[in-house]
Amino acid sequence: MRGDYHTHSIFDDGKNTLLEMAEAAEEKGLLYFGFSGHASQSFDESFCIKRNRFREYLREARDIQALFEQEGRRTEILVGVEQDLFSEPARGLDYTIGSVHFLKQEGDYLCIDESPEKLEWIVSEYFGGNWYRMTDAYFDLVAKLPEKTGCDIIGHFDLVTKFNEGNRFFDETDPRYLRRAGEVLEYLVQQSMVLEVNTGAMARGYRNTPYPREGLLGLLYVLGGEIMINSDAHSREGICFGFDEACQAARSAGFTCTNLLTRNGFARIGLGCFEEPRLRALMWT
Ligand SMILES: [Zn+2]
Ligand SMILES: [Zn+2]
Repeated sequence: MRGDYHTHSIFDDGKNTLLEMAEAAEEKGLLYFGFSGHASQSFDESFCIKRNRFREYLREARDIQALFEQEGRRTEILVGVEQDLFSEPARGLDYTIGSVHFLKQEGDYLCIDESPEKLEWIVSEYFGGNWYRMTDAYFDLVAKLPEKTGCDIIGHFDLVTKFNEGNRFFDETDPRYLRRAGEVLEYLVQQSMVLEVNTGAMARGYRNTPYPREGLLGLLYVLGGEIMINSDAHSREGICFGFDEACQAARSAGFTCTNLLTRNGFARIGLGCFEEPRLRALMWT
């Protein structure tokens, strides 16, 4: 009984069409599947839905949603968007994932998840080589997501660690990193945000564990936060990637439930029901 709501297509920086993605989701037995193309933005159109194609994206997504409904298909389709803090507000959607991909320093938009080299350059050029000043700036922007984007879901909470596997650039257990991350996490829970357990960096070989990292996921549980498990798939093969590991990470942090998003809002579901039947069978023997 799975859902996957963070996915991309050829409308933005994905590899498959919306229909190919939806059909692959159905083949994988998903109960719910959501489209969440990168919302249009003016300063860098390279990875998002082009402004003059956004209405086409919405129309095509809604057509597929209606088709699946009319044909009584197994998978219910939802139409959403991944809204960057600095992208243009989008309307007419079933849900919004709010994400930070850019810092804004001295009027410049700086992409933090492009490459390790680019991120090193940003830290050296704009933060005097201090990685913790950069991570503070990142989390300060994450805190603005609910108000600025009106999102329902916070995307990849600690994306700033994408290139930091093995603490390559900074120590993710250092209070200089964790203090601001923890404060922002607490604020987001107060704002009733649902946070993703996002496996996107695992699929692309950058990280061995999902966002948010272990300690932050544990803190989220203690704070009474809600989660949903998403793949951030950029191709049909990526749908549900690493979901069993994500369930295990959630369970280790203390969670027993995740959330599905339905046309009537969020619905809690036990992690045991969300996992692959194969895995459940193993756990019960
Ligand atoms: Zn993203
Ligand atoms: Zn994404």
